[in-house]
Amino acid sequence: MQAPTPGSFENPLRVAVIGSGPAGFYAVEHLLAQTDLTVQVDLYDRLPTPFGLVRGGVAPDHQKIKSVTRIYDRIATHPQFRFFGNVEVGRDILRTDLAAYYHGVIYAVGAHTARKMGIPNEHLPGCHSATDFVGWYNADPDHHQRHFDLSGTSAAVVGNGNVAMDVARMLASPHEELATTDMADGAVAALKDSGIRTIHVLGRRGPAQAAFTNREIREFGELPGVDVIVDPADVDLDSASREALERSADKTVERNLAILRDYAERPPSGAPVRIVLHFAVSPVELLGTERVTGIVLAHNELYTASDGTVRPRATDRRTTIPIDLVFAAIGYRGVPLDGLPFDRKSGTIPSRAGRIIDPLSEEALVGEYVTGWIKRGPQGVIGTNKPCAQETVNSLLEDLHQGLIGHRVPQRAVLESLLAERQRHRVSYADWLTLDAWEKERGQAAGGRPRVKFTRVDRMIDALAEAGEAATD
Ligand code: NAP
Repeated sequence: MQAPTPGSFENPLRVAVIGSGPAGFYAVEHLLAQTDLTVQVDLYDRLPTPFGLVRGGVAPDHQKIKSVTRIYDRIATHPQFRFFGNVEVGRDILRTDLAAYYHGVIYAVGAHTARKMGIPNEHLPGCHSATDFVGWYNADPDHHQRHFDLSGTSAAVVGNGNVAMDVARMLASPHEELATTDMADGAVAALKDSGIRTIHVLGRRGPAQAAFTNREIREFGELPGVDVIVDPADVDLDSASREALERSADKTVERNLAILRDYAERPPSGAPVRIVLHFAVSPVELLGTERVTGIVLAHNELYTASDGTVRPRATDRRTTIPIDLVFAAIGYRGVPLDGLPFDRKSGTIPSRAGRIIDPLSEEALVGEYVTGWIKRGPQGVIGTNKPCAQETVNSLLEDLHQGLIGHRVPQRAVLESLLAERQRHRVSYADWLTLDAWEKERGQAAGGRPRVKFTRVDRMIDALAEAGEAATD
């Protein structure tokens, strides 16, 4: 007998969302906003803590951006919502389990790894990905044990996106300011003793093609004890950039240029720390034997490509800068998930309107969807994830109405017993709120910081277990 189409009170539509960053939460929100359907949503995260890059990526001095989590907390109060933190898909629960227990699965797993520069000596100690550094200073449990040798005097940050801005700003910020944020304690201590005095930020194209936004470039100029150095020749635009800007009249670019021109006109004050912005240069080699000692840059010329974009082309001119540290902030990359198609070039799961597509047959995989960075690549601000998730959920609902995803699934309680066997230490949303309250209390006790984060999963699990035992004593 054909199962009745799910979505009624007796037979709810059951959806698993994998990954609790903004993309995952906006998918949950849109699913639970359906007024003509009863939908039950389980949100999974491999960490005990939710919020993905809002917790582990957004810079510690950007607390206002992090306040978006209040919206996610509100979504989580819905009676048909459950959170399974510290449950990893592929380890604790398999893709085949998800297919059996849910009508639809939405992967919102983000882009975990860093893109490589692909230049000689990138393996040398002293060369790091910005993603590792960001994870470390943001107390991400995957990165808390890392060590960054900040004893040198000079660092290079490769890339002109907002991650490059964050990394350069964290290296340049006075310790007293960082100590008031929710930066990991270990990072605050290491940055206090940092010897880094010059931070070179390296853009492979010109200032009119920089990916950073106005606020981030303006913040450099607001840092106490920091000179921002821009060569006036760099803000005198080349013809390709001028023409592109005339065509686009992009306000963000125009404001970026105005800010950079202001920096170019400021005489250096002799401040103890310098951020030096270089444009139209690409790293071609790192120097050093035991560790990084320098970076060789090719100077680029800019030209208009056939698609109208302004691209860099290396000239024969080379410059070498002595440096002690390099951070490659040239973009994140998604990682393949067991059994799902993956496009190695873009680092994403191939999809159409959120439906995962088998690249061989070009058919949609029934009941499996993507949203966020694993769908569209690592770009856009937090809010970009909202329409992206809505598109994906709408595809899922369309498939439901077409009768494509109506198979019978077990009751919710059956899944709970499976998870109880597979992962004893799973974390509910109530558990997370307990961890959240403890972190905030610790922040208060540490002189009014927003929070002092847990950096280790085992410490979170032990603290919750102890509190549970104390409550039942
Ligand atoms: P991004 O914005 O894509 O910037 C990547 C930068 O790396 C670009 O300048 C790119 O140059 C450069 N690059 C790429 N490959 C390179 C190579 N081989 N050599 C030299 N440079 C290279 O990426 P992101 O900074 O990782 O940020 C990811 C997303 O998160 C963005 O949408 C960003 O706005 C967002 N984010 C926002 C904030 C915030 O709102 N405060 C903070 C952090 C991140 P080309 O342009 O020439 O490719």
